Amino acid sequence: MIPPGETIGILGGGQLGRMLAMAAAQLGYRCHIFAPEPDSIAADVSAAFTCAEWDDAAALARFSADCAVITYEFENVPVAPLGALGDALLLPGANALEVAQDRLSEKTFVTALGGTPAPFAAVDNRADLDAAIARIGAPGILKTRRDGYDGKGQWRIKSAADADTLPESLFARPLVYEGFVDFDAEFSVILCRNVAGDVRFWDSPENRHDGGILARSTVPAGRKVARQVGKARAIARAIADKLDYVGVLTCEFFATRASDPHGPVFNEMAPRVHNSGHWTIEGAITSQFENHVRAICGLPLGDTRLAAKGAVMDNLIGDAAHDWPAILSDPSNHLHLYGKAAARPGRKMGHVTRLILE
Ligand code: AMP
Repeated sequence: MIPPGETIGILGGGQLGRMLAMAAAQLGYRCHIFAPEPDSIAADVSAAFTCAEWDDAAALARFSADCAVITYEFENVPVAPLGALGDALLLPGANALEVAQDRLSEKTFVTALGGTPAPFAAVDNRADLDAAIARIGAPGILKTRRDGYDGKGQWRIKSAADADTLPESLFARPLVYEGFVDFDAEFSVILCRNVAGDVRFWDSPENRHDGGILARSTVPAGRKVARQVGKARAIARAIADKLDYVGVLTCEFFATRASDPHGPVFNEMAPRVHNSGHWTIEGAITSQFENHVRAICGLPLGDTRLAAKGAVMDNLIGDAAHDWPAILSDPSNHLHLYGKAAARPGRKMGHVTRLILE
């Protein structure tokens, strides 16, 4: 057990690290942020900040010497340099990063555990793509295996002829082609697992994306989602158990039509707290951020049940954050602004949560 007063290291300096650090502070911990970007909104609310590249072994060693436990808020932290972390615990472990960083290994891993991703094929060149389209069919989506997020690194393929429009340079990196899922709704399973292997789930939010970016999460989800949550939870729990995972794990799913016996379709996992769980700050008895801190520090987990009848979380993307005066004029809105300097299009600047009370 790591008692309050100790220091938690966080790899990554964005809004997830910021909200983790705020939850940690509530429990009496200090946080130390490690991130390559000098303007870290997580460091703004933390006790210490190391600004260094991911492969700076000396900086990582100094950082870990200050921390009782280290976690991450960003799943694309390069794994190889983490060997320099020394004796501090890394939770969740590097094995979760390894699986989640590569869409191909993620889908293969989940399939072996009985999950159902969209039909997929590895693509390393144009001939592979033609073969993948011939086997899986079109429409489909070609995705980079690594470093994609918020719909970036994705190309829609409406028909086999679309492959001719792709630049040859695209094939310089490993890709994966997946069949397009005709889904009824999207949802996520957010769980927290402690060192002893106990698992708690939050209510599954129904998620609406706009242009590949999460726009709104709603709990409770509608019937189309609710009927597939049980199977999705079983897969998410199997993933967490197999990885001997400690902390919050998120798995995103597509709810398929009631007539489809194979649903839900697994989309992807994030070995961390997740945007679709931000509603838990006010909408659940214990938030995803607090329970992640409790899990990695070996404290008892808090209750994950709803604290109201439901909740709706809207992301504030780009200029939408400038509407904060209007948002605050409704006294029931919970406004969260992340303190980012520039409101670029597509950038997550904050979110608003409204509780459903009756
Ligand atoms: P991802 O970054 O893979 O989660 O993709 C972002 C969003 O694109 C998802 O939340 C879906 O709305 C959509 N999407 C991704 N993959 C598929 C697919 N195979 N079929 C249908 N929609 C998809």
